[in-house]
Amino acid sequence: MIRGMIFNIQRFSIHDGPGIRTAVFMKGCPLRCEWCHNPEGQRNRLELSFILHKCVGCGRCIEVCPAGAHAVKPNASAFEGEQPFTHTLDRNKCIVCGKCAEACAYGALSVAGKLYTPEEVIAEVLRDMPFYKNSGGGVTFTGGEPFAQHEFLLEMLKLSKSEGLHVCIETSLFAPTDMLLEAAAYTDLFLADYKESNDDLHKKFTGVSNKTIIDNFRAIDAAGAKIELRCPLIPDRNDREEHYRGIADLANSLSNVVEITLEPYHPLGTSKCENFGYDCKYDRREFMDKADAEKAAEFIRSLTNTKVRVQ
Ligand code: SF4
Ligand code: SF4
Repeated sequence: MIRGMIFNIQRFSIHDGPGIRTAVFMKGCPLRCEWCHNPEGQRNRLELSFILHKCVGCGRCIEVCPAGAHAVKPNASAFEGEQPFTHTLDRNKCIVCGKCAEACAYGALSVAGKLYTPEEVIAEVLRDMPFYKNSGGGVTFTGGEPFAQHEFLLEMLKLSKSEGLHVCIETSLFAPTDMLLEAAAYTDLFLADYKESNDDLHKKFTGVSNKTIIDNFRAIDAAGAKIELRCPLIPDRNDREEHYRGIADLANSLSNVVEITLEPYHPLGTSKCENFGYDCKYDRREFMDKADAEKAAEFIRSLTNTKVRVQ
């Protein structure tokens, strides 16, 4: 029986395709984008999140941890307003059994990742069928990179279509072309990322070349798949005219791009990196200025007839 690793099933989503949708967040991704806002989606394994500021130092996690990974000590030199204790988590010892997350009554600990069968996921998605029907919504498979669990994804796609759901896949398109074409038969709209036009910079920012991605844009476009071009705008990385021209050129070279969506940077991923114990390569704490994103949109509109929207 196929089972796959999901880290969130988000109901009533309005930013992951048309209408009201349920977004299914799948674990595992071959890219390592510096600005990733879902770092818990990168690795296909269970991961423990620890939000230090929610901790009250009760010590319940210490009592239940079989690995001795937690330590709470009083901190007599804490300033007013600071926690009067230090809490350290040794991730090298942690076996991600989840016992501390169950024991913590303050929401400081949680485990990202749960195994599901395709049927279990779709049963969850179908709970909101009346909302999809009224709003033109449906289900969106996102992540992480959904194609990193392609067999599991394909089963969910088939089930979704057999239930009459509108289906979107949010993807980097960094996947074998045959997998994408197989999935296209069950997909109404690809929400496909285009992160950087300059290949050297694409490698630097994401860890992989954009060549496969561009080839895959052409392959799914030739197969008639509908595409929404999703372009993260990241200050001091890809917020350049050269890249904006690249976005317009790509859209103009394809036949089935229904929209270009610009996604101005938001800093949610930086705190998530800390919670999951990862180094944050792009540590900007401020949102991108919406006016800068609108300027980028205007510039791209001057180069293409495709609709351009700022999310
Ligand atoms: S159980 Fe929760 S609140 Fe208590 S010490 Fe552990 S993390 Fe902190
Ligand atoms: S997940 Fe398990 S092993 Fe890891 S810190 Fe919590 S209780 Fe300990």
